[in-house]
Amino acid sequence: MVRIGAVGAGVATGAAAFALSETLPDANVTVLEASASVGGRAATERRGDVVYDYGANYLTSDDPRIEDLVTATLETDGLVDVTDPVWTFDAEGTVSEGRDADDHKWTFRGGLDRLASRLFTRTDAEMYPETRVETIVRNDRQDTWTLEDADGDRWGPFDAVLVSPPAPETASLLESADWDDRVRDHLVEAVTDVPFRTIWTGVFHYPFELERPYYALVNTDKNHEIGWIAREACKPGHVPAGESVLVVQANHEWSVERADDSPDDCLDELTALTADLLEDDRLGNPDWTDHHVWHHAIPEAGVATGPIETAADAGLHCLGDWVAGEGRLHAALRSGLEAGERIALG
Ligand SMILES: Cc1cc2nc3c(=O)[nH]c(=O)nc-3n(C[C@H](O)[C@H](O)[C@H](O)COP(=O)(O)OP(=O)(O)OC[C@H]3O[C@@H](n4cnc5c(N)ncnc54)[C@H](O)[C@@H]3O)c2cc1C
Repeated sequence: MVRIGAVGAGVATGAAAFALSETLPDANVTVLEASASVGGRAATERRGDVVYDYGANYLTSDDPRIEDLVTATLETDGLVDVTDPVWTFDAEGTVSEGRDADDHKWTFRGGLDRLASRLFTRTDAEMYPETRVETIVRNDRQDTWTLEDADGDRWGPFDAVLVSPPAPETASLLESADWDDRVRDHLVEAVTDVPFRTIWTGVFHYPFELERPYYALVNTDKNHEIGWIAREACKPGHVPAGESVLVVQANHEWSVERADDSPDDCLDELTALTADLLEDDRLGNPDWTDHHVWHHAIPEAGVATGPIETAADAGLHCLGDWVAGEGRLHAALRSGLEAGERIALG
C-alpha cells in the first residue's frame, strides 16, 4: 500500500486525492490542513441566509477534462453558472460593456468551497484540519518522508508527499526542510522565484437590491485602486431577495500598502471608492462588512519545471495553480490531477 502525505486541502490536493482514488484505490492519503476547512483560496463564508465567495469568484475552464469533472463526474446538485456578464472600468472609473472572456462562471448555491469538499468526498483521504505543517523531513535510508506539525507531532512515514501551499509558503517550508540534497536547493531557488499578487478583499452587505446590467466589473488598465467588484446576488442561492452583497478586491499596490493598516480604515476607504465607482452614495454605508487579506493571492508567473520534476522523482510533488502557471482554479485542478496520476504511475 502506498502512503501519501499532503500539505494543504485546496482544490489541487482535492484533485490529486481524487485522481489517486481512481487510479490507485489502495493508496492511503493523509491530508494536513492549516485552517479549519477545506478549499483554500476557493473560500466561502456564510452569514444568516447570505453565502459569499470571498476568495476565488467562480470556476471556468478551457479544458474539456476539467469541464467533464465538474459537470459530469462530481456531484452536480447545486452547481450554478453565473450568466450575467463581466464589464470593465478604467483608472478614471469609466465603465464599459464587454470582456466576458469566460464561457462559464461556475459556483455552487452553497458556495465555491463545495468544489474541494466534493472532490474529497469521492476519496477515502483522512483529513486533519487545523494542522499546520512546519517541517518536511526526508528519511534517506528508508526512502520515505515525515511531516512535522506546529505542535511537534510527526506524521508518516510516507512514500510520497504532496505540497500545495502558495509558492512563497512552499518556499519557506522547503527552506526549513530536513532534506540535505541539491535537489532541494534547486527547488527552493525555483519556487522562491514565483511572484505572487496580494489582494485585500472587502465584502459589503446592503439591505436593498442593486440593479446593474453586469455581474462584475474588472479594471483592465490596472491603475484603479479597485481591481474587481462582483455582485454575489447574481449567484443563485447566495443572497436573499431585497439584499445585496458586493465583493470588492483592491489592486496589488493598494493591498500591499494597506496590509498592516487598521481593517476599519481600509473598509472605509474601499466603500468610498466603491460608492464613487458605481455612482451610488448608499454604497458608502454597508450595514455589515467582512474582509480578508490574501497575502499570497495569485501567482504572476509559473515555476521552472526542471526542479519540480526532479523533486517529484524523489517523491516530493509540488502542485497547485503556481505549478500549472496560471492563477485559476481550473489550472490548480489540472495540476492536482496530474500530480495524482504521476504518483499512481510509480
Ligand atoms: C481573491 C482571489 C480571487 C480569485 N479569483 C479567482 C477566480 O475568479 N477564478 C479562478 O479560477 N481563480 C481565482 N483565484 C485563484 C484560485 O483561488 C486559485 O488558483 C486556487 O484556489 C488555488 O488552489 P490550490 O489548491 O493550488 O491552492 P490553495 O487554495 O492556496 O490551497 C493551499 C492550501 O494549503 C493550506 N496550507 C498552507 N500552508 C500550510 C501548511 N504549512 N500546513 C498545512 N496546510 C497549509 C492552505 O490553508 C490552503 O488550504 C482567486 C484567488 C484569490 C485569492
